[in-house]
Amino acid sequence: MKDTFRHKGLRRRLVEELRGKGIRDESVLAAINAVPRHFFLEKAFEEIAYEDRAFPIGADQTISQPFTVAYQTSLLEVHAGQSVLEIGTGSGYQACVLAAMGAHVCTLERQETLYRQAQVMFMALGFEHVRAFFRDGYGGLPEMAPFDRILVTCGAPEVPETLKDQLRIGGIMVIPVDEGAGDQRMIRLRRTGSTSFEETRLDRFRFVPFLRGKS
Ligand code: SAH
Repeated sequence: MKDTFRHKGLRRRLVEELRGKGIRDESVLAAINAVPRHFFLEKAFEEIAYEDRAFPIGADQTISQPFTVAYQTSLLEVHAGQSVLEIGTGSGYQACVLAAMGAHVCTLERQETLYRQAQVMFMALGFEHVRAFFRDGYGGLPEMAPFDRILVTCGAPEVPETLKDQLRIGGIMVIPVDEGAGDQRMIRLRRTGSTSFEETRLDRFRFVPFLRGKS
């Protein structure tokens, strides 16, 4: 696949659309402008890859809508050099957006086919420093903890204690938590001490579920 002038133009237009929808973090917008989203989709979606919508990526999963990626990434307040743990690699797009911002990214996926495809993408796009693991995200990644940032990209029944434990003091976790009506409330947690967290409840979204175990 190629990243043509046309794709770049569509991407710039998407960035303007996201700006219009309230995304203000310039480093997030620059990363979205830098990562060719059409590479992460099947050829059939190439023409519409820069519309602000989610798409199927196989294995019953979806690549998040660009607005959702931009929203979550903005809440995370990522700075270059920080360590970020992502739960739910999916297509690998979100991990590349974080890597494009200079973060050191570890990403976990429970579905082996998606894990494998994403690894191929990281290599192909020059993001070989993104570290992908075939793991159940409920366990986090204890051997690399603590993390400056943790981002969950699937809808969780609650905030897993394991992930809270793996967040550095002063660090931020962004996680969509089930509201009971088939959608999730975006939660932003800041760890203020060894046992204290500050919680902010934000907008509602709809994610694929955070499931237990590997498959
Ligand atoms: N961040 C992705 C969006 C992925 S959708 C992207 O940019 O494309 C959410 C992903 O979370 C799915 O791929 C799903 O398989 C994965 N997932 C669900 N439960 C999980 C778990 N327990 N551990 C790791 N990944 C999980």
